[in-house]
This record gives sequence, structure tokens and C-alpha cells, in this order.
Amino acid sequence: MKHRLFFISIAAIFSFVSISGAFTRELVVYSARKEHLIKPIFDLYTKKTGVKIKYLTGKAGVLLERLKAEGPNTPADLLITVDAGNLWHAAEEGLLSPVTTDTLLTNIPSHLRDSQNHWFGLSVRARTIIYNTKKVDVSELSTYEALANPRWRDRLILRTSKKVYNQSLVASLIVDHGEAKTEKIVRGWVANLAAPPFSNDTKVMEAVAAGLGEVGIVNTYYYGRLMKKIPTLPLTLFWPNQNGTGVHVNVSGAGVTTHAKHREDAVRLLEWLSTEEPQGLFAGANMEYPANPTVKVDSVVAGWGEFKPNHINVAEYGKYQAAAIRLMDRAGYR
Ligand code: FE
Repeated sequence: MKHRLFFISIAAIFSFVSISGAFTRELVVYSARKEHLIKPIFDLYTKKTGVKIKYLTGKAGVLLERLKAEGPNTPADLLITVDAGNLWHAAEEGLLSPVTTDTLLTNIPSHLRDSQNHWFGLSVRARTIIYNTKKVDVSELSTYEALANPRWRDRLILRTSKKVYNQSLVASLIVDHGEAKTEKIVRGWVANLAAPPFSNDTKVMEAVAAGLGEVGIVNTYYYGRLMKKIPTLPLTLFWPNQNGTGVHVNVSGAGVTTHAKHREDAVRLLEWLSTEEPQGLFAGANMEYPANPTVKVDSVVAGWGEFKPNHINVAEYGKYQAAAIRLMDRAGYR
């Protein structure tokens, strides 16, 4: 591993030197990951390689539409976006081109990347249960599915079904249980809601902490952010489905665009992003988990304890997204 990285970096330096007189090497990245999360990493890459990175940040859907509209004229070489459902859509639309290199195939586990290598997960986010420690005894909790049980009537708080994170969660339930059983589960959730669905994960936690409800489902990095701000909140995480399918995980990730003008450099950047130092930064900056399993988890995140993740290939969330949306609509989950 070390040797390969060494040769890659030597190659990068040589080719840079050989053409540096002609022009400065430059890459363009479209990123749905926010500027403060990517800029330090890009700055580090520029420092190490001399390759300049221009980037445009925006909402995932907007960036996909833009890539589509620009077609062969796009300046974008690499797309970084959140949620496997969005990465899957980008690949389906023909906006990403496969990259098959040993570095990426070794560093990123197969369930966190596209089977055709159009995109690769770079950080892992867990969508788990949070609960009010003053209202809920941990022995009451077990699985996502069990939150459909009538014992949780008027106690459950959820984010809107319009958010892709919940569409991916429901898609994963469809993969594990089929549509009929999943619909029953989602109907059970809806029946148990203590309030109409909230617009974001932080509001879900605030409602649970305030006692409007007692239990909710959120991405752990939002929990990390909120607890950093208000450590006294009566909230904690629970890892569900540990005797079965595991905790629902998703990714933020990247792929090289189909019409990249600097494909080789884009591949090199993507490979580098899968290695130790940038992996630590990429995940750590947002309190997520590195996609590369050999990289150390941020200490605050590690403090939340270890869990067994669901090993469904995250690409399935894209495949079943339309079915998940229809199902949630039928079940009255708004
Ligand atoms: Fe998010």
C-alpha cells in the first residue's frame, strides 16, 4: 500500500514538473459538500501536488441538473455529493464515468461504492435512533422496525419523507423486508408520530429533547453538532438492529465526470481522497466515519461506541428510491 502511494506521488510530481512551464494544472470540482468541509482538504492537495482546485458548491439536485444541462461543455472534472441515492442518480443519468484503479478498489469497501465503479463513498454517515434519556428506558429500544409498535404511540418524531436520507432509509427496509412489510412498518411510524414531520434532523432532536416526543431517527453528525453546542440536552444515541441487519449507513462520495477535461488529474485526486490523511480530514470535519476502514475514527465520534452497520450495497438506495417515495406517500408519511 505504502509503496503504491509513494509511486503515485512520485508520478504526480514528475508529470507536474514536466509541464509546469506550460501552464498551471487545475481541476474543477462540483460539490454538494459544503465549502468549509472540502476547502482545507483541497488546500492540502494543492500544497502537496501543485494542482489547483476550483470548486463550486451547491445543493445536490441543483449540481446534478447543472451537470446535465452543461453536457459535454461542463467544466466539472469531479462531482462530490451526499447520499448514495444522489450518486446513483448521477450515474444513471450518464454524468459519471467509471474509474477502476487498485487504490480505490482496495481503499473503499465494495458495499460503499458503485458496482460499476462510477462513484465511491468517501465518508460514512450512520442514521440511527436518538432518545430523550429522561423519558425513555434504553431497554425499550431495539430496532427501526420496532418504532412501529403501538407502545410508541405519540412518542415518535421524524424528519420529512421529502429528505433523501429518509428515502434511503426506507429503501434499505425494502431491500431487507420487501415492500409489503416495509409499508406496514412505515404506517406504524406514522401512527406513532407525536407531531408532523420536521424539516431537518436538528429540529427532530430539539423536539425530542424538549419532550414533544421521546424518540427520533437522525444522522449522527447532527447529534454531534447539537451536543457540542448544548451538551446538557437529555439526548443520547442508540444503535438499533444490532442482533439483525445493523445500523443504516449512507455515504457522501465522488465520481469523475463523463466529460472531464482533466480526467487523469481527477482520478488522482479521487484516489488521494481515499487515503489516510484526507480520509481522516474528510470524515473528521463533519463527525462522520472514514469510508476507508483502516483510517482512525475521530475521537468524539469514537466515543459514541462501536456498532454493526448494515452491509447493503448503498447503491440499492438509489435503485429503490422511487419505490420508497411511493410507499411513504401511500403510508401517509409526509
Ligand atoms: Fe446532512
